[in-house]
Amino acid sequence: MRTDAADAGLAPAAYRTPAEPAMDDGGPRRDAREEGSGRTRRLEYPPAPEPLPVPVVDNHTHLDMRDGLVAVDVHRAMDAAEAVGVVGAVQVGCDLPSARFTVEAIETEPRLLGAVALHPNEAARLSECGRFEEAFEEIARLAEHPRVRAVGETGLDHFRTRDEAGHAAQEASFRRHIRLARRLGKALQIHDRDAHDDVVRVLLEEEADDGLPPHVVFHCFSGGPELARICAEHGWLASFAGPVTFKANDALREALRLLPNDLLLVETDAPFLTPHPHRGRPNAPYLVPLTLRAMAETRGQGLDDLGRCVGESTRRVYGEF
Ligand SMILES: [Zn+2]
Ligand SMILES: [Zn+2]
Repeated sequence: MRTDAADAGLAPAAYRTPAEPAMDDGGPRRDAREEGSGRTRRLEYPPAPEPLPVPVVDNHTHLDMRDGLVAVDVHRAMDAAEAVGVVGAVQVGCDLPSARFTVEAIETEPRLLGAVALHPNEAARLSECGRFEEAFEEIARLAEHPRVRAVGETGLDHFRTRDEAGHAAQEASFRRHIRLARRLGKALQIHDRDAHDDVVRVLLEEEADDGLPPHVVFHCFSGGPELARICAEHGWLASFAGPVTFKANDALREALRLLPNDLLLVETDAPFLTPHPHRGRPNAPYLVPLTLRAMAETRGQGLDDLGRCVGESTRRVYGEF
C-alpha cells in the first residue's frame, strides 16, 4: 500500500523523472503493466532509503533492463547504490544480448561483477528453434571472463514454461550450466519458479554424478521451511529479494528464520520485485536497504550483524571486486 511516509524524500538524482521522458532506445524493459492484474504501474522511482550501517552487495540485478521514465547508466546506478551503502552488484545477463552487455559493464564499472547464462525460459525458446547449442557456446566463452564470477541465472521455470518439451529443454540446459560452473569453478545462480522439487532433484543427481559447483545460490529464494532445511543441509545459499517484504509471504519469512547466518544473501532482481512499500514501482540496487532491513527484523537480528554476515558470504561466493 502506498503511504505518504513512503514517499517522503526524493529518488536519487539519476532516477528522478525528467520533464521530458527519455526516448525509448528499443532495449529490453519491464512491462508498464502489473503482472497478473494488468493494471498500469506507477513508473516513478521510489525515494532513497536510509543508508545501511555496513556495506553490502546486491547479488543479483539486471542493469540492462529499463524501467520507469528515465534511462540510467551503470555508473550512475552504482553511485546511487553506493550512497546508501550498497557498494557493489552482480550484474546478471540471461540471454545473449544481456550477457554481452554484462561483460561490457564489468569491464568499465569496478563496482560490478558478472553472471551469465541462458535463462530457463530463454533456453526453452532457443531449443525450440534449434539455436540453443550455438548460444550456449557463446555463454560458455563469456563465462570465462575473470570478472564473471557466476553462471546464472539458470534453473527451472514451471510458471512461464508449461509444456513438456519446454520443461525437458530447461532441465537439459540447467544440467549444462551446472557442469559449466563446475568446470570453471564459479558459483551457480539458480532461478527456481514453481519448480522446487525438480530443481532439488537435478542438483542432487548432478551432485551424485560429478559434484556441484563450489557455491550454489537460489536467487530470489521463494521456498518455504522445507526448502530452507534442504539448503541448510547441503550448504546451498538463499538470496532474498523484495518478496520477503510482502505481507502474504509468511512461509518465505519462516524459511528466512530457519537459515543459518552463513547461507544468506540479499538482492534486488531489479527492475523487478520492488520491495514494500514501493511494490509495483521500478526497482534498482539503491533499494537493497529496504529488503535487508526487513530480513533483519524477521530474524530478530541486528542490521549491522546481518549486514556483516551477508557481506562475508558475498565475498566467499563471488570473490573480491
Ligand atoms: Zn530469476
Ligand atoms: Zn533475475
